[in-house]
Amino acid sequence: MPIPVTNAQGIREGLLAWFEANARKLPWRLRYTPYEIWISEIMLQQTQVKTMLPYFHRWMKRFPDIRGIARAPEEDLLKYWEGMGYYSRARNIHRTAHALVTDFGAEFPRDLNLLLSLPGIGRYTAGAIMSIAFNADCAAVDGNVVRVFARLFDIAAPIQERESQRIFWNIAERLLPMGKARSFNQALMDLGALVCTPKNPLCPKCPLDTLCQGLRAGVVDLRPVVRKIQDIVPIQAAVGILIHNGKVFIQKRPPSGLMPHLWEFPGGKLQHGETSKQALVREFHEELALTISGVRKLALIRHNYTRFRVTLHAFTCKLDGVSQEPVLNAAVDGRWVTFGELDGYAFPAANRKLIEILRTRHSKLWDEKSCKHKP
Ligand code: SF4
Repeated sequence: MPIPVTNAQGIREGLLAWFEANARKLPWRLRYTPYEIWISEIMLQQTQVKTMLPYFHRWMKRFPDIRGIARAPEEDLLKYWEGMGYYSRARNIHRTAHALVTDFGAEFPRDLNLLLSLPGIGRYTAGAIMSIAFNADCAAVDGNVVRVFARLFDIAAPIQERESQRIFWNIAERLLPMGKARSFNQALMDLGALVCTPKNPLCPKCPLDTLCQGLRAGVVDLRPVVRKIQDIVPIQAAVGILIHNGKVFIQKRPPSGLMPHLWEFPGGKLQHGETSKQALVREFHEELALTISGVRKLALIRHNYTRFRVTLHAFTCKLDGVSQEPVLNAAVDGRWVTFGELDGYAFPAANRKLIEILRTRHSKLWDEKSCKHKP
């Protein structure tokens, strides 16, 4: 059931005037190319502007256009995505670039349905590309917009529900001023990011304060309503930096499951009653048919991943006897690499933290000549 959108014209005018004076200066707003809008939107799905900007600049330097992405090996894309998580998004970018080169002459089609047919491009991203890059009359509802609407129209339904999403999109479509989608959609996004923030919104500075139903009802802090997320799952895991002849062993995760195709140090979850050291010895045996010795504690890393709270017990270790060869029982690839070469591989965030700890505490390991089994 659509909700009434009162004062639509006042909201449009207030937002557009506010945006004119307060728009964030962002690199993809200089030229509004579909390519830059696409990459920025995919990156912003998981992180805030401030955090993603260095990634965006680095990415554009390495992959200045769609053909550049299509030509690059997937490994390169993962490397440039490393640190942002959700690696399937980088893979989808790769697949979409190939599709654009093959079917659309390396250009984005100006058609919402064709955009929606591309890998990793959903309703929001398609709407953002259509409206921001092409200024086409398409709505784009992201988390910022949902928050603004939930407060502005005092919507109490939990935002994750399908019906709520229908309501938010319906409002966005009815509010959209024809011919001004680029500015209007970005105005909503910027208002959510700068003024109608998740905590402590700046209502006195808001161009919509006199029209805001949530503010009038005194429920701003109660909007949007978010259904309770799933319980947090704690995980204890052990991981080992296996050092042999000045090199470390890394392995590649399978193409399906968590963090597919990323490289990692061997290890796994602790089983009931096991110490972290016992778990490490067992994992090396099960996953690689290797017997290790000289296990020494390196660090304890805590890392949150979606609803998982991971405690990673990290060790250095060496082979128990030099003639063993790893057998890949779980990974799809494995390599001995120098410490310096680790920077050339894409790792999950917790492993990357571990590499930084190694680099800080054992900088000599990065000098290959001095690396002889001794962490
Ligand atoms: S008045 Fe406050 S709650 Fe309402 S839209 Fe503006 S910032 Fe958000």
